[in-house]
Amino acid sequence: MTFPNEADLIAKIPTQLFIGGEWVDGENEPFAVLDPSTGKVLTHVANATPAQGTAALDAAVAVKESWARTPARERSEILRKAFERVIELRDEFALLMTIEMGKPLPEAQGEVNYGAEFLRWFAEEGPRVIGRYGATPEGNARMLVSKHPVGPCFLITPWNFPLAMATRKIGPALAAGNTVVVKPASLTPLTTLYLVKVFEEVGLPKGVINVITTRDTAGVSNVIMEDDRLRKVSFTGSTPVGVNLMKQAAEKVLRTSMELGGNAPFVVFEDADLDKAVDGVIAAKFRNIGQACTAANRIYVQKSIADEFSKRVAERVGSFKMGRGTEDGVIIGPLVEEKAVNKVAEMVEDAKSKGAEVVIGGNRGTGEGFFFEATVLNNVSLDSQVVTDEIFGPVLPIVQFEDEAEAVKLANSSEYGLMSYVFTEDFNRGQRMIDAIESGMMGLNIGVLSNAAAPFGGVKMSGVGKEGSFEGIEEYLYTKYTAVPDP
Ligand code: NAD
Repeated sequence: MTFPNEADLIAKIPTQLFIGGEWVDGENEPFAVLDPSTGKVLTHVANATPAQGTAALDAAVAVKESWARTPARERSEILRKAFERVIELRDEFALLMTIEMGKPLPEAQGEVNYGAEFLRWFAEEGPRVIGRYGATPEGNARMLVSKHPVGPCFLITPWNFPLAMATRKIGPALAAGNTVVVKPASLTPLTTLYLVKVFEEVGLPKGVINVITTRDTAGVSNVIMEDDRLRKVSFTGSTPVGVNLMKQAAEKVLRTSMELGGNAPFVVFEDADLDKAVDGVIAAKFRNIGQACTAANRIYVQKSIADEFSKRVAERVGSFKMGRGTEDGVIIGPLVEEKAVNKVAEMVEDAKSKGAEVVIGGNRGTGEGFFFEATVLNNVSLDSQVVTDEIFGPVLPIVQFEDEAEAVKLANSSEYGLMSYVFTEDFNRGQRMIDAIESGMMGLNIGVLSNAAAPFGGVKMSGVGKEGSFEGIEEYLYTKYTAVPDP
């Protein structure tokens, strides 16, 4: 591995807006991007005004026909080149994510592979978009069914997977022939800006991608959402913001894809392979320092094995090293911002006040940066916030259950339905759980399951639509039926 010097890396990342193929300054005062492991400023980036949001949409609209008419293979070649370039720059992208977001370097490298894969996957899917042709049932006409790009898209991404959340939207949008305005999270804009530089380098025509960084998120978003020329919004982030965007989208009857919050149940039956279940929960809980929409949030363990399970998990957690994500062996990097540490600390206090036992951890980090220890809580009561809400931190609350019926009831007792995990060695029980648990995705005896070929997305308050897989590109296409007379 050849990790660059951090200052050199930061110096080469663009910090301006990218509109119509030009890098331009924001008209508001630039804002700071912090290193969450120190709380210190890494750099400042452009802060767009609402008018600049409209300018970005103008640029996307200006080239929408030419990009839609560009042959699918040509669009695909550009995506493929971007994939290759991101992989070449893997160590730079990884380090950049570690220093702007906090995740440990090996996880950041994993995200580069995972995130780049959406560019390759959709480079391959784009040329496969085809229609149908056939006779009407009555035989009196012919039917043509064709697929078309939806039109200019607004793509809004969160801070927790700065590369993958961007490529998972940009890949299918561009492959399908759409132009886009991308708005990365203001906590982690650098990765997206670097990705866009890659697209510029590999020859993406001007205006196809436009990037807006801003602190006036609502102001910029509102003018874009209210613009008659916008055709689709794809959002990954928290449920309240998603609900608000859906209300705005309703006004214009916009196509929407919503990847929202989660509160994944992780159910361990007494017939589970306990080693597998412990490995599974460690991966599903502590990856990304617990800051994943798919993170195991509520750990339901059958009573007869709960204490043994909690002991084994705590042994593993006790060996975790906490520190800056660039240090060797670190598992627990910083949380993304101080507010996140305060929220997790409050949730742990709330659980303790309701009777939870702290098996290990439970404290804020000392010193600089935004740290919270990896924490295991046992005997957590059902009304604790760590059970009812999305934690987004390295806290693993164990709730005990008696039997299968109770496990299903508990698993489904959340407004969310993104991910679920079930550990059992009973094949029939596993299949019953697929039917019974309301979630868009399930890990059955496995703790990490995302990949570009898999349809990612939730049900209930976790969202609508799918990203990745065959379904992912359909979200960016509309279907047109044309009738012609029988010859
Ligand atoms: P967030 O909702 O605060 O922000 C997400 C994005 O929306 C950011 O770019 C933010 O600037 C923008 N935003 C904020 N207010 C807005 C507004 N009024 N109008 C338009 N855009 C606005 O979420 P976050 O804290 O960045 O991310 C964490 C959340 O994202 C968690 O709830 C997590 O579960 C969810 N998430 C979901 C998935 C998924 O695929 N389902 C993946 C990752 C994260």
